[in-house]
Amino acid sequence: MADSPRAPTPSNLYSFSRLKSFDQCPMQYRFRYLEGLKESFRSIESYLGNAVHDVLEWLYGERDRDSRPDEQRTLERFADRWQQGLDDTVVVIRVEESPETYLRLGREMLARFLRDTFSRDRSETVSLEQRLSLRLSDEVVFTGFADRVGRTERGRLFVIDYKTSRSEGNGSEFSEGLQAPLYAASVLQHYGEEQALAGYHYLRHGTTHWQQVDTARALRLVERFLELVSQTEAAGDFPARPGILCAWCGFNAICPAADVPDRFAGGLRYAQGEGVRRLGG
Ligand code: SF4
Repeated sequence: MADSPRAPTPSNLYSFSRLKSFDQCPMQYRFRYLEGLKESFRSIESYLGNAVHDVLEWLYGERDRDSRPDEQRTLERFADRWQQGLDDTVVVIRVEESPETYLRLGREMLARFLRDTFSRDRSETVSLEQRLSLRLSDEVVFTGFADRVGRTERGRLFVIDYKTSRSEGNGSEFSEGLQAPLYAASVLQHYGEEQALAGYHYLRHGTTHWQQVDTARALRLVERFLELVSQTEAAGDFPARPGILCAWCGFNAICPAADVPDRFAGGLRYAQGEGVRRLGG
């Protein structure tokens, strides 16, 4: 598949993903955000995450329309969504796995969510998939998408991010320490309130981690984010930092430093034109 160039990300627009990419591998950052190159494939893990997020958005939307989808309707919705977007750029990275493994995983996550979380959730939805934007300085704008903004039964504002990752996060900056808290800082400013909750819900585990963000913490988060942006902008070169994530990096076929073990070579083989099983068929 040929890479087609696209416009680089505007230089003043920073998302959490952008900074995380720089932290994980500066060369990947350069390809993606400065040169605007398009990745050669989408991993099936990322595809699964998008499909599950779409169904969660639909679930909460249905609830607001006074409909309570049961497990059967939810899983049918998921099956439709799964088929609709599945094209041959979606690749199974772990060569011993099959697409069905991920389809089953998505079904399990949604059934658990419906049973253990959604059925007990009395919170009010304020917005779904809300684009957030916060001017951090004259030069820098923070941007991102909050999966769900809501209010608890007691009226507390919250932002929650749904994760389909294998493992739960921790308090470090590029795990739970920055993303949802900054989303909470954005909604604090948007709604003119003093406190909000920032949450991560891990769908494979059925757990939710909450933290509180008040206006003082929001200020510190903004300062820290700006510091990280400055480090990115001051970078004179963009060295490769090869590691396990190379297998999931859509630039691995053009990167001279890519380190991809055979058992995770589904993406690399696809990008090199060796072909993979067509998933949609
Ligand atoms: S393949 Fe690995 S080293 Fe190369 S850009 Fe991607 S993550 Fe970085």
